[in-house]
Amino acid sequence: GFGGLAGRTAVVTGAASGMGEATAQLLAAHGARVALLARRADRLAELAGKIAADGGEALAVPVDVTDADSVAAAASRVHEVYGPADLVVNAAGVMLANPVDAGRTDEWLRMLDTNVAGVLRIIDAFRDDLLAAAAAGRRADLVNVSSIGAHAVFPGYAVYGATKAAVTHLSAVLRSEFGPRDVRVTNIEPGLTGTELGGHIDNPELAAQLGGMFQVIDPALSAADIADLIAYVTSRPAHVNLRQIVVLPTRQ
Ligand code: NDP
Repeated sequence: GFGGLAGRTAVVTGAASGMGEATAQLLAAHGARVALLARRADRLAELAGKIAADGGEALAVPVDVTDADSVAAAASRVHEVYGPADLVVNAAGVMLANPVDAGRTDEWLRMLDTNVAGVLRIIDAFRDDLLAAAAAGRRADLVNVSSIGAHAVFPGYAVYGATKAAVTHLSAVLRSEFGPRDVRVTNIEPGLTGTELGGHIDNPELAAQLGGMFQVIDPALSAADIADLIAYVTSRPAHVNLRQIVVLPTRQ
């Protein structure tokens, strides 16, 4: 079961949709207080209402992880209402696909700023919370959502894959720094998952190709499958750290 989640204070980025939303809901259902972070305030408010209606506790905290001041303000808000966090999930991310020779520096910078620098800004904002929770003998978790794209080669996804390779390596090194102080670091690399992620691709061929993958790899993973995994890893006994998980649809 997920008994290790009751009474914990979680921060989930990307909570407006997909994996972040499903994770926030599941953690709350098992008794964690959950701060919901993403840009779309309406979506966050709606989710907070749903969680409250189900008897859980959630706080909508609109934030843009590409903006350092916004992240600092969000962390202040979380601390003001909930105090320090002991479970941080980095699920916010964007996937924009184009061949490198399309020269889409706008997309490259947006992905780097969201998927890599955004993750670092969140880690920076909540690192002291996690270290303090662990020092006080409580479970402390950092979960980063990377991707199978960190290893697999998909033409059109060079920069996205590079941002996820960065997250995977960052997680491994962070674990070597935090693990000895009892903060668990878990890196999750999902395969094809049905969410809003592909909706921002503006290259028609690559958008169609992704749609085709959902036809072939059916069923894909669901956001709830990833939430289930995150609830599992964060509710293990404190000395058990699943450090690196590749999770794929069986048909992928
Ligand atoms: P979604 O697009 O549904 O979720 C992404 C979330 O990130 C949204 O809630 C979005 O909310 C938030 N977000 C995006 N940009 C920002 C920003 N600048 N500041 C704050 N929040 C932001 O897709 P997924 O659930 O699939 O994505 C979750 C993670 O999983 C991502 O890191 C993705 O790369 C990864 N992943 C997904 C796979 C898949 O097949 N779906 C496979 C492997 C990995 P808002 O727009 O309101 O800010």
